[in-house]
Amino acid sequence: EKTYRVKRWGNGYFDIGECGNILVSPRYDHPDLKINLREVIDEMVESGIEFPAVIRFHDILRSQVEQLNKTFRAKIEEADYEGKYLGVFPVKVNQMREVIEEIVDAGSRFNYGLEAGSKPELIAALAYNTNENSLTILNGYKDEEYLRLALLGLKIKRNIIIVIEKFSELVKLIPLAKELNITPVIGLRVKMMVKGRGKWESSSGERAKFGLSIAEILNAVTLLEKEGMKESIKLLHFHIGSQLTDIRAVKEAVQESSLIYSKLVQLGVPLEYVDVGGGLAIDYDGSQSTNDSSCNYGLEEYVSDIVYGFKQNCDLESVPHPHIVSESGRAMTAHHSCVITQVIGEIHPSGTQYSTKKATSEHIIVTNMREIEADMAQGNYQEVYNDICQLKEQAFQAFKFGIFTLDELAKVETMYWRILNSIEKQVSTEEFIPEELREISTMLSSQYLANFSVFQSAADSWAIDQVLPIVPISRLNEAPTKLCSLVDITCDSDGKIDKFIGEDTVVSNIPLHQLNANEDYFLGIFLTGAYQDVMGDMHNLFGRLNEVHVFSYDDDPKDFYIEETVKGSSVENVLSTMQYTPVIMAQVIKKEIDKQVQRGKIKPREGVQLTDFYEECLAGYTYLKS
Ligand code: PLP
Repeated sequence: EKTYRVKRWGNGYFDIGECGNILVSPRYDHPDLKINLREVIDEMVESGIEFPAVIRFHDILRSQVEQLNKTFRAKIEEADYEGKYLGVFPVKVNQMREVIEEIVDAGSRFNYGLEAGSKPELIAALAYNTNENSLTILNGYKDEEYLRLALLGLKIKRNIIIVIEKFSELVKLIPLAKELNITPVIGLRVKMMVKGRGKWESSSGERAKFGLSIAEILNAVTLLEKEGMKESIKLLHFHIGSQLTDIRAVKEAVQESSLIYSKLVQLGVPLEYVDVGGGLAIDYDGSQSTNDSSCNYGLEEYVSDIVYGFKQNCDLESVPHPHIVSESGRAMTAHHSCVITQVIGEIHPSGTQYSTKKATSEHIIVTNMREIEADMAQGNYQEVYNDICQLKEQAFQAFKFGIFTLDELAKVETMYWRILNSIEKQVSTEEFIPEELREISTMLSSQYLANFSVFQSAADSWAIDQVLPIVPISRLNEAPTKLCSLVDITCDSDGKIDKFIGEDTVVSNIPLHQLNANEDYFLGIFLTGAYQDVMGDMHNLFGRLNEVHVFSYDDDPKDFYIEETVKGSSVENVLSTMQYTPVIMAQVIKKEIDKQVQRGKIKPREGVQLTDFYEECLAGYTYLKS
């Protein structure tokens, strides 16, 4: 637990069992349910599901939706708050149909709705958010078609609120609504002055991409009043950034927005809702700090600050409490899915052994290196380190000038790594280790090669240095003895993960176990259910992952069942996406093979086998077979 902090980022859903495996308790109200993740993986292996694969716990999704809604309702009751809570899930955070269906279903008894940020998302929301009492909030830039779709939604009695992100949208909406004879329900997104905290803090402030300035909001009110549509303004919207690491930003945003709301109401704007956007953060690294990958608050505190903040300010300003809308996405979905990958090899910089036996007329650099190794005495490690770095550099220079042989280079290299290993061993017991010598352990660390693509399965780790918890699925009752970073199977040196949860800070290596021959070593990349699930790309044509949907049984706390298996992309799927025609490609290869058969270069039987093999690979999974 100390190494991987499972309990701290797990939010009650993940833990380490005495058996040394990760346990999943997918329902916050039923902590006795404990699914052994290794057993899920074993069942997947038995059913022939290839890895890497995504495991989804739909119970966790339901659990998060329930927790959010119940917490808001409880706070509203506790505070005697006069408005209601009407949350919406932002589709962009995880657009998978199964995820949306589960969220809509779990949220129906709370009138929990959806938020769409684009035309395609609106088209999905129209078809899936069919509860007339839940909201559909429309954000994002809108063209006429988007607005027409929104008005179509209103015609079929959907509770749609069109949020104006840019003044020109209003100019388009007014004549359209008149033409179709529909009274739209309008939200105004305000550019907040308060800055979010964390990687997404540019979502607010004067230079924010979305929203109206105060002057534009007042102009919008005047315009709508002039057009006889002032009564349509029902919602004030803001979003100051995702993953708000510091609760102070939430408090400040509530303070600022409640005042804007109050003053607008006092001016006669008939606002009924305030939408606080997303931002509820996830403690990815379990540090409960204001690190970019963490947060210094929990759900209860977040909800409390919103409900009590609005109540207090509205009471002071003598205006009605607005209904509260929130658009939490990350917090709803991050925990529900994880990526399971196998480590398929080790890359060790100092692992190669080469004979360093003295040759008769060897270069002086080789002799010097040998003498340093022989004379290494306790205490002069920094000096030894300085010398061997210089010798290694000189050896490469000498090689470039043609006065050093490949054999000599290999000897210098071998001795260099051997000396580094012994320096590391010796200094590890010292009380003080100089900075450069501390880095030796990183230089000596292995890279574990895992069967996945960072670009497909952990995009934020590559793009914005997001720390995602990575933990072995088994052997957690055994001390990990190897310090490693992870590399993926893409042909891209960026295809690696070298940011992990450390004791106090983010570290570049993770302790893992020695690989055992003939034993699978599975790693879980956790908290991938928000954004990661859907943002991945097909770098190197590695496609979407196989996935399984796992459910728990009420009556047997240790049992589970795989309700559904969704096949990941086949090679022909990804090729077709890139405009190839796999059928034609197979014909080309068959023709080429036939040509060689006619020339007698390939036997007919082998020709058939080769053709079948190519077609089999086309239909197969894009990742490595293990
Ligand atoms: N609402 C809007 C307008 C957003 O831009 C975002 C994401 O940045 C969200 C909601 C979801 O935010 P989060 O995933 O932090 O809850």
